[in-house]
Amino acid sequence: ACYVEPVYKLKSGITAFFFTMNALETLFIITHFMRIFSRRFESWETHLSNLAQKDALTNIFNRYKMRDFFSVLKEGFAEHKFKFAVIIVDIDDFKHFNDTYGHEAGDFILVELAHIFLSFCHKYTDNDYLSLEVDTDDLICCRWGGEEFLFAKTFTDDFPKNPKKMLDLFEAVRTHDFKFRNEHFKITLTGGMAEHIESRRIDETISFADMNLYKGKENGKNQLIF
Ligand code: GH3
Ligand code: MG
Ligand code: MG
Repeated sequence: ACYVEPVYKLKSGITAFFFTMNALETLFIITHFMRIFSRRFESWETHLSNLAQKDALTNIFNRYKMRDFFSVLKEGFAEHKFKFAVIIVDIDDFKHFNDTYGHEAGDFILVELAHIFLSFCHKYTDNDYLSLEVDTDDLICCRWGGEEFLFAKTFTDDFPKNPKKMLDLFEAVRTHDFKFRNEHFKITLTGGMAEHIESRRIDETISFADMNLYKGKENGKNQLIF
């Protein structure tokens, strides 16, 4: 065995002091790194939930997130907190638009449309909004797929007979000046609405809205059938 005599002999109190300081320092360093990593994980988590719940092009909710909202809507409806209607909206002659002006211009229209839609869905405009709260006078919107968007409107009043908010939204789109690379475009929408009623499943309500959308297309487009 090899033992080297220390150059300085410390008093046992001082040794204890150094031991304690060492331990505290180590503890501090460990907690510091833990805090850094947990913060990073939290931001990754937000980012990943955003990816999972938002549409990549338009950054509004995707249909998976809408499915979650429908569960909450069904609950609120069953508890008589509110009623709700479903509105499917489809861009008119969008294939022709793409063929004429190109896919990029088409993508621009989708992004700009989503902005207009969000301006009518005040509660859900926050970029990090990920909870599933629904109240008595809310408008929720998602990209249902392609150039179709699906809205859910809660109400306690006469909304289905007088869907002013949706008609205003249609008018806002109709009159909006879509400007892409120095060109100006006009876009119209056709929509179908259906009120959810007790005897129906959500999917059936969506089908009824879809049938109304079809009627609107047959009837000359650029209108909301309710
Ligand atoms: P209608 O008025 O009857 O709705 O006619 P339409 O041409 O809009 O309908 P159709 O279903 O024939 O065409 C939908 C088009 O939407 C086809 C596709 O090119 C376009 N589209 C769907 N998703 C996207 C997208 O993400 N970006 C772009 N640029 N176009 C898309
Ligand atoms: Mg379509
Ligand atoms: Mg279309």
